[in-house]
Amino acid sequence: TLLVTGASGQLGRAVIHHLLDTLKVAPARVIATTRNPENLADLAARGVAIRTADFDDTASLTSAFKGADRVLIISTGELDLKNGKRLKQHETAVAAAKEAGVSHLLYTSMPNPEPVSPVLFAGDHYGTEQAIKASGIPYTIFRNGWYQENLFMSLPHAIASGHWYTSAADGRIAHGARDDMAAAIAAGLASGATDSATYTLTGPRAYTVAEIAALVTDVTGKPIEVVQLSDEALTEGLKAAGVPEGFAPIIVSFDTNTRSGRINMVTDAIETLSGKKPQSLKQFIEANKAALV
Ligand code: NDP
Repeated sequence: TLLVTGASGQLGRAVIHHLLDTLKVAPARVIATTRNPENLADLAARGVAIRTADFDDTASLTSAFKGADRVLIISTGELDLKNGKRLKQHETAVAAAKEAGVSHLLYTSMPNPEPVSPVLFAGDHYGTEQAIKASGIPYTIFRNGWYQENLFMSLPHAIASGHWYTSAADGRIAHGARDDMAAAIAAGLASGATDSATYTLTGPRAYTVAEIAALVTDVTGKPIEVVQLSDEALTEGLKAAGVPEGFAPIIVSFDTNTRSGRINMVTDAIETLSGKKPQSLKQFIEANKAALV
């Protein structure tokens, strides 16, 4: 059986969709976990087993993982930089998988998560990878690059105001579609692959902020001036624009990371795993033009 945590989330739902509808895995072979089973009533109706699991409760995870062969841990969404809550949640899940006798562990990490990463939550992913390796359970780590959908956080404002403030300089990112990553992850989960492996999942081409802005202008006709700032000036600007105090440093840490070339890689892992050509950034912008402008 194949188990997916965080199944009610956007990525979890997409992974299960690909298991059932793209890969035609029998629903009886799929287990979905959540804190709130009512959120997965639609999957239960299709024959997927729904189990309750809370990452803050070891016993709930151990009993949820019982009898599951391959377990996909989708990183939880709680960024708690002060108390390291998310890393503790993931470590709890890895320990529960060991206890339950899971045969293969899969995890959604991020590219280049090592301690030198400027990304403020990179330690959660690096620490989880280390815990997985220390558990001795064979694993597949998916280092998910940044989603194209993340651009919904910055592009609408940039298009509306005509200014895109950044400290990324000429750093590049190969944003990938969330659904393409889900397809690759589902394929890795459904495959019988037993060797441990780490894949970095990215879109097909890496762009600078200026190149993304030019692409958006091409598609929408809206001019965007890219304004390069220092990290400090960007932090102040974000705060002045009303971005919550704790969140501005996280956003800036993405730009620092981009500038230092730590997220500029392009891989063919999505296509290798899923057999599907990943959506280009231009296709994403065209498909979402109405929502962006
Ligand atoms: P969502 O916020 O839609 O879903 C997060 C899931 O985490 C929920 O299904 C929730 O399950 C689960 N979760 C959170 N806390 C707990 C807990 N204490 N116990 C059990 N489950 C918990 O996130 P997405 O699907 O959009 O993204 C998945 C992950 O991908 C994120 O959590 C984040 O780590 C990462 N991410 C990566 C991005 C990238 O660009 N690479 C961008 C955005 C996110 P439930 O409520 O059902 O219990």
